[in-house]
Amino acid sequence: MEERIERIKQQLHSHGYKLTPQREATVKVLLENEEDHLSAEDVYLLVKEKAPEIGLATVYRTLELLSELKVIHKINFGDGVARYEFRAENAAHHHHHLICIQCGTVDEIVEDLLGDVEKMVERDFNFEITDHRLTFHGICHRCKAESESE
Ligand SMILES: [Zn+2]
Ligand SMILES: [Zn+2]
Ligand SMILES: [Zn+2]
Repeated sequence: MEERIERIKQQLHSHGYKLTPQREATVKVLLENEEDHLSAEDVYLLVKEKAPEIGLATVYRTLELLSELKVIHKINFGDGVARYEFRAENAAHHHHHLICIQCGTVDEIVEDLLGDVEKMVERDFNFEITDHRLTFHGICHRCKAESESE
């Protein structure tokens, strides 16, 4: 974790920003909850436990800055709430999401399924693709198992 914080610090520095204690507290919360897809509000509540003096606006600005610098991804699952997660280091491709419309759980697919689609789009639209997002909405295996056992 220290190493990753150090690398993030370098990234900030190279763009002329400092890793202030508030920014560091925010980064730590994101690292500790790397598996989750936290909203700004979620991050704020967790940061507040460590740094009670921090304000929501500061957390919000830090998240915006980190996503501008491509340290984290800002994702929108269509419920109007922006969520944030770390970019896998050195990964050109972002994983895909499965969102359960019943319980709201977000699962991830790491494999890329869209290689052929990208080729087609690049050819047909003369568009150079650098990445894509893919989100599936539906009923997760947990909810399915629950409804089957009723
Ligand atoms: Zn579910
Ligand atoms: Zn994710
Ligand atoms: Zn993909």
